[in-house]
Amino acid sequence: MHIDLSGKTALVTGASRGIGRATAVMLAKAGAKVVINYNRSEEKAREVKHEIESSGGHAEIFMADVSDPGQVDALFDFIRNTYGRIDILVNNAGIIKDNLLISMRLSEWDSVLETNLKGAFLCSRKAAEMMMANHSGKIINVSSTSAIRGGRGQVNYASAKGGLISFTMSCAVELSGKGIQVNAVLPGMIVTDMSSRARKRAADKILDKIPASRFGQPDDIADLITFLASGSADYITGQAIPVDGGLSIS
Ligand code: NAP
Repeated sequence: MHIDLSGKTALVTGASRGIGRATAVMLAKAGAKVVINYNRSEEKAREVKHEIESSGGHAEIFMADVSDPGQVDALFDFIRNTYGRIDILVNNAGIIKDNLLISMRLSEWDSVLETNLKGAFLCSRKAAEMMMANHSGKIINVSSTSAIRGGRGQVNYASAKGGLISFTMSCAVELSGKGIQVNAVLPGMIVTDMSSRARKRAADKILDKIPASRFGQPDDIADLITFLASGSADYITGQAIPVDGGLSIS
């Protein structure tokens, strides 16, 4: 299948590294103009822009903490002023702060919920308003298999990612009559900075639970996101789709 996103504008949150980076590059390869949002890794965001532009694509970078309403407003003002539209929003920015339930600090709970769930709400609210004006748009939320399996030390993260699935379904119900599809992807264990400690600590134990017998690569996730962002996925909405080598069914 050939995916053509030319003429489309996409925002990928947390695109300086990992899954977001791979997604920004793949959307740009399919022809979309891409806004690379980052929080702390400005240099890495510049590298992503450079990678996209060296292959003839178009990208801009924009710093915003997605959990901060004022910074999200500034991000969307930039998109409105630069492109006048947004067609694709990928809510990818995420953090982990693992701790066992009885030891978890309120700050660890709050920051994970704020970035992973509130961030998606703040960005989707702004994007949906602009998409409704065009009666068209795609919102793709990056959840996790932790949302449906749970995880030791992850009551905050799994709750945020589970909430993101419920958020996805509710947005889909509200927005499908406005020409906007909203879906979630659920990565399993993907080779990025975020998963490096877990993979170092217990690689064999985790691999035992993955029927595909390998960790995922960021492109495994970017492939599905790019498909969901395309017209080929116009009849898919409100879904939560694992990309996990079978981890969620094992
Ligand atoms: P990663 O390599 O740690 O990258 C995280 C990205 O999120 C970075 O670009 C970071 O930007 C950005 N970010 C963090 N907090 C932010 C904030 N407040 N505002 C804006 N951007 C922020 O992680 P990853 O593995 O690619 O994860 C991407 C998404 O996939 C996350 O939502 C994660 O929960 C989900 N996921 C990952 C796995 C996995 O195994 N890796 C599995 C399931 C789900 P800066 O560096 O610029 O701060």
